[in-house]
Amino acid sequence: MIEIESHKSVDVIDITDQVDRALRESGVDNGIMLVYSLHTTTGLVINEADNALINDILGLLQRIVPQGAGYQHDRGDGNAHAHLQATLLGNSLMIPVEKRKLVMGIWQRILFFELDGPRKRRVFVRALPN
Ligand code: ZN
Repeated sequence: MIEIESHKSVDVIDITDQVDRALRESGVDNGIMLVYSLHTTTGLVINEADNALINDILGLLQRIVPQGAGYQHDRGDGNAHAHLQATLLGNSLMIPVEKRKLVMGIWQRILFFELDGPRKRRVFVRALPN
């Protein structure tokens, strides 16, 4: 399990190194690394960890799903936009593992999107041997 503490209402945290550490501790040589968020207002994405690009992704999410646009769930806890944005991003990733390494391109990083923070979050990771 990876523990994450977000510091803003919307926060993007690069968890590639933690996932890589969990893989090394697993002892799995070849297979798949499952990365799975235990939350409903977060997302997991593989992309470039470039601040300008991350701001562009957040801007895209806000344009598609602006806050307070008359959602039914806002009658409850007021965070419907965060749930809806999370559904666009997805909440799990599967990354191939070969020779004890995550198979990732040079610019690819594992990005955790906090969409309703700040909060303490947990991401389940499990190396599945093949
Ligand atoms: Zn809610």
